[in-house]
Amino acid sequence: MALVVVGSVAYDGVETPHGKVERMLGGACTYISLAASYFTEVGIVAVVGEDFDPADRAFLARRKIGLEGLETKPGKTFFWSGVYSQDMNDRTTLRTDLNVFAEFQPVLPASYRSQPYLLLGNIQPALQQSVRAQMSALRLAGGDTMNYWIQDYREELLAAIRHWDFLLINDGEARMLSGEHNLRRAARAIARMGPSTLVIKRGEHGALLFHQDRLFAAPGYLLDDVCDPTGAGDCFAGGFIGYLSQGQAEWQDLCRAVIYGSVMGSFCCERFGVERFRTLTRAEIDARFEEFRRITEF
Ligand code: AMP
Repeated sequence: MALVVVGSVAYDGVETPHGKVERMLGGACTYISLAASYFTEVGIVAVVGEDFDPADRAFLARRKIGLEGLETKPGKTFFWSGVYSQDMNDRTTLRTDLNVFAEFQPVLPASYRSQPYLLLGNIQPALQQSVRAQMSALRLAGGDTMNYWIQDYREELLAAIRHWDFLLINDGEARMLSGEHNLRRAARAIARMGPSTLVIKRGEHGALLFHQDRLFAAPGYLLDDVCDPTGAGDCFAGGFIGYLSQGQAEWQDLCRAVIYGSVMGSFCCERFGVERFRTLTRAEIDARFEEFRRITEF
């Protein structure tokens, strides 16, 4: 194993203009680790309840995702549901039942602690900090956060990201965190908070990479049909860190990692939930990476 991923493993209910699914496997950790599993060996740290379906566990295991850090606790698995707007750029959360996730205290198995790569999914910053502190030989660590933690847990979040190499957030969150509307200024302000690499995810409009005053812009991949955008941001993170976990993290590698992130986010949207990952192959991923090269070369 090379990469440790922490976050939610969940059941989701999702409604988009393409249909409705009452309950399916989801969670940030699930999406991140599925996407990263195409690039590197992954171990997850998460908690589920006694209702967690053995078939879902088997699916993760088939993708060779390490489950030693997946705890089962008495009670129910985290449940989230949401509904998307007609253009799918907005989503309204209908239900968040934390269930066993409310008491989540991540403790890393001994075999995880010396791994070089860490992706901290969107959970309470103090927990992100505690996981990072349990790792002893990190080469690259970073993660995701959201408006809730930026607004209500600001000091805790600042204390956590001070130790991160990279931060992945959307443009609204970057503005909120930095207090700057202009994204270049926002990126500089965030670099002063710790992470030397910032990726601003802009949904269907692509992503921006900032690193040492350099900027790389990746477009969004134009799909014929977006079926369900749930997890796209997490799959972006999984593709990004998965690619970097293979070795170098120089400027060129960071740019390629952003494209692999965009590729994984786009595949995620093609089917409901994690369905696309049941059939997706590395060859399809590399073909789409080359397509990105063609559409951005001039
Ligand atoms: P994304 O579409 O990339 O923002 O990720 C959606 C996933 O995040 C869903 O599978 C949810 O189960 C999960 N999720 C939603 N709310 C939370 C939360 N408060 N904490 C952790 N995970 C969440």
